[in-house]
Amino acid sequence: MKSLQEKIVKEGKVLSSHVLKVDSFLNHQIDPKLMKEIGEEFAKRFADEKITKILTIESSGIAPSVMAGLELDVPVIFARKRQSLTLTQDLFTADVHSYTKQETNRIAVSNSFLTKQDRLLIIDDFLANGQAALGLLDIAEQAGASVAGIGIVIEKGFQEGGNLLREKQIRVESLARVQSLEDGKVTFAEEVLS
Ligand code: 5GP
Repeated sequence: MKSLQEKIVKEGKVLSSHVLKVDSFLNHQIDPKLMKEIGEEFAKRFADEKITKILTIESSGIAPSVMAGLELDVPVIFARKRQSLTLTQDLFTADVHSYTKQETNRIAVSNSFLTKQDRLLIIDDFLANGQAALGLLDIAEQAGASVAGIGIVIEKGFQEGGNLLREKQIRVESLARVQSLEDGKVTFAEEVLS
């Protein structure tokens, strides 16, 4: 997605050869117009899949997911990372190791929002080693729901998550695929023309 690539080049900060900071439009401040475009693009790519719900993870997956949910006219569920007083029982849970924070979180979704009739689109902001996506797939499986695919805003193609998921025959749609963050510079796997 050209506008996303341009935004990454203009505002992304390469923190190391492995970490890209995009706090100005995705992870802290949010650019609603760009999020709307992102939501439309996910909706377009999964238009024929009869999606019934979008499943994401707090907090940075929520904005692109809501925009996609608006386009596809389906609800959005976000897995919670922190124990909530109101989310106490009947949960689907999975343990997810965070690459950026170097900690493991138990993520949870109330079992009242997912059923085996659901066909899910999983969305997240970044794909690195695939742990967050695997946790969400695990939760979908516990619910008996089917998964049409995974929509990722920024995939870091030099980390293993993309291969791991595609080897499992899971459809992964990334709107920007970063090939390298070497020398403080973002290089994309493919330069998008439109
Ligand atoms: P994974 O579970 O695929 O290893 O990592 C995905 C999660 O880690 C994303 O939800 C995102 O929050 C975070 N993450 C991984 N790499 C980066 C990165 O380079 N920049 C930012 N901002 N977040 C990242």
